[in-house]
Amino acid sequence: MHIAVIGSGYVGLVTGACFAEFGDDVTCVDINAEKIARLSTGHTTIYEPGLDQLVARNLQAGRLRFTTDIKQATEGASVIFLAVGTPSQTDGSVDLSFVETAARAIAAHMNGYKVIVTKSTVPVGTGERLRRLIREHQPAPVDFGIVSNPEFLREGAAINDFMRPDRIVIGSNDEETIPVMRDLYRPLYLIETPFVITSLEGAELIKYAANAFLATKISFINEIANLCEQIGCDVHDVAKGMGMDRRIGSKFLHPGPGFGGSCFPKDTLALSAIAREFSCESRIVDAVIDVNERQRRAMVPKIEKLAGGLRDKNVAVLGLAFKPETDDMREAPAVDIIRGLVERGASVRAYDPVAINEARKVLPGIEYAADEYAAATGADVLVFVTEWNQFRALDMTRIRGLMRTPRIADLRNIYEPSEARSAGFEYVGVGR
Ligand code: NAD
Repeated sequence: MHIAVIGSGYVGLVTGACFAEFGDDVTCVDINAEKIARLSTGHTTIYEPGLDQLVARNLQAGRLRFTTDIKQATEGASVIFLAVGTPSQTDGSVDLSFVETAARAIAAHMNGYKVIVTKSTVPVGTGERLRRLIREHQPAPVDFGIVSNPEFLREGAAINDFMRPDRIVIGSNDEETIPVMRDLYRPLYLIETPFVITSLEGAELIKYAANAFLATKISFINEIANLCEQIGCDVHDVAKGMGMDRRIGSKFLHPGPGFGGSCFPKDTLALSAIAREFSCESRIVDAVIDVNERQRRAMVPKIEKLAGGLRDKNVAVLGLAFKPETDDMREAPAVDIIRGLVERGASVRAYDPVAINEARKVLPGIEYAADEYAAATGADVLVFVTEWNQFRALDMTRIRGLMRTPRIADLRNIYEPSEARSAGFEYVGVGR
């Protein structure tokens, strides 16, 4: 099948490369010419394990190409995916301008029946809105179908999540699009991936409801963690005891500095805005957002208390990306934490295995270290912000020797408190 993917960021690039791997003929489009130039030479623009090889292989096989020319991509495709960004506006509602610009461009170049699929996370009603917009902008009427096919991949595990998803959600109010979408996902059908076929609006809501539910689990366990700190028990025991109940499940019950990233903060805000638009309450989601903001704000005071003040202190920060195995710094807790530390008079030296280049763009004024040990040298506190695997087995005797004062603020509970203390550190975690 001939596919165009509009938007070649985290989702668009993975989607394009994976469909090419399934054997489809894929054209990835982006307005960022620099990005397209790099991708055309087989160099990926984001850090995502396995993506380099997947892109290079399919580029070489001639199944994957990159362009800034949306006309050429539209004309050559029977299915067009929209994978552009849908950021938050100041009132929490979704900025659909990228989606609408792309839809207008598709409308202008439609040379025959196409299935237009939103992979971007878009508010309920967007699909039908795009139908009207495209009709208005077609030079002459050409029939087309609209589908919502939300994406559930996780950065850092995106290829596996795309190739082996828990389910494929397909929403459409145009019956004739369903066989096309089923055909497209045939390789996953063959490995018995379940399909949820629903209305356009149903699919649009599934994505927000799923993300808001995961965010709820995180805020819930963070609230329990704060209670554990007051009671004097360990949130990990509580989470373990809860998670063994199969109705609850153990995933997303990890306490920490609050959720970040390009999805949960914006999608919870968007769901709240969607509920308002439909005159419904969203009290749980609103509480999830509120608890998360409080959790994020509580991290700098936690570090300050451990350090006995931050003025003229050296703080080593390990982990900058919003989660391990990605270089994505969007809404990363490290950004607010580092800004807060600097505001209170600390000098920060940070290290991340892959996100330093991205971090420099949002955190220009701090020092970056070549590795964990260089970051820890002369530090008064070592703060773990992202739980990269390589941070789990550091030489703690060496770290202690390098630090000015051996203190650890472990915002991801990477280390056992008793072990850290017996290794000579003052230690504080989250909820233990
Ligand atoms: P991104 O910012 O990494 O990529 C978006 C790309 O679209 C950019 O490269 C941008 O230059 C390009 N673009 C913008 N307007 C364009 C236009 N008119 N024509 C062509 N290209 C254009 O964003 P992302 O993280 O890939 O997210 C895309 C969508 O997928 C969002 O709606 C997001 O909520 C959703 N989503 C993201 C994830 C994730 O983990 N990142 C997971 C599931 C869903």
